[in-house]
Amino acid sequence: MEGLVSLLLFAGAFYLMMRFGCGAHMVHGGHGGHGDASAKHVDPVCGMNVDPEQGYGKMHGGELYRFCSRNCLDKFEAEPEKFLRKQGGAS
Ligand SMILES: [Zn+2]
Repeated sequence: MEGLVSLLLFAGAFYLMMRFGCGAHMVHGGHGGHGDASAKHVDPVCGMNVDPEQGYGKMHGGELYRFCSRNCLDKFEAEPEKFLRKQGGAS
């Protein structure tokens, strides 16, 4: 029955994440591996901070970029180099 217990724990954690958004940090322990899951990403198109649970993600050149909206993601996909150059080298 161990499988059932962990399934319930997972479902509970998932429910909390869906319900409280920011509470995701609290239920995150014990599942290392995502690295910077708690770090905020900056939308390279409009410069907004985007929460890891929000917006759209896109892998480009081995980096994960996040976008506040589908609109920004579309702009980035059209001309990724343009927006990456604008960012400077502050990573
Ligand atoms: Zn944006």
